[in-house]
Amino acid sequence: MPIDQCEAIVLRTYHFADQDKIAVLFSREKGLLRGVAKGARKFGNRFGSSLEPLSVVRVFYYEKERRDLITISNCDLLESFFEIQKDLRTTFTLSYFAELIEEVSPSRAGDEVLYRLLLSVLRCLGAGGNLPFLTAYFEAWFLRAAGLLPELGRCKGCRKPVAGPAWLAPKGDGAYCGACAPSKKEEIPPEAAAFLEWARKNPPSESCPMPFAAGSLAGIRKVLQTLIVYHLEKEPKTLRHLKDNT
Ligand SMILES: [Zn+2]
Repeated sequence: MPIDQCEAIVLRTYHFADQDKIAVLFSREKGLLRGVAKGARKFGNRFGSSLEPLSVVRVFYYEKERRDLITISNCDLLESFFEIQKDLRTTFTLSYFAELIEEVSPSRAGDEVLYRLLLSVLRCLGAGGNLPFLTAYFEAWFLRAAGLLPELGRCKGCRKPVAGPAWLAPKGDGAYCGACAPSKKEEIPPEAAAFLEWARKNPPSESCPMPFAAGSLAGIRKVLQTLIVYHLEKEPKTLRHLKDNT
């Protein structure tokens, strides 16, 4: 059977059969792959720490036709983000990123934007980056890459740029100014549009750029999370853990 290979980020693993693991991989070229790592739970197995969550690996595998699972024959560790996961908040955040990617990525279709987003945010976190800022950056770009990020700087009703508080449209497809809003359920903080614009134009950075201070990030993230929950039609369970534990 021919062996194939690709670069991938390990999203998560779970136990399978007596001594195996299944790894959910997000690959640069092929999107989501699910693979059996035979013997990965045996002591001193050949996979070592390459299957730790969020490891960047080169995976060697083969697949049988019409089988959903690939068989992983080997995995070379390229970059590890094991150290930063000693912090519980970071661990919960990274599982949240992994769940979002698993939710929206169809199998066997690469998504270069999403792959580069996850990798660059991981590298910034690995270098000691600001967690709330990088989480907001990830959420904004995740929505954008999935085509789910509406225009928040202009009112859906009167088409004027929104000055002052805006309100999220009930279907999550835009914003209303105070005068046009049909319901005033979720307020969009005034900094949200500027933050999204900044994120669109700039790669992630380790420190939070001015003027997006911690206080304004919380409000921006609340809106981004409402959009994520609305479009996924459920609250990601890792998001619930994140809120309960941080
Ligand atoms: Zn309006």
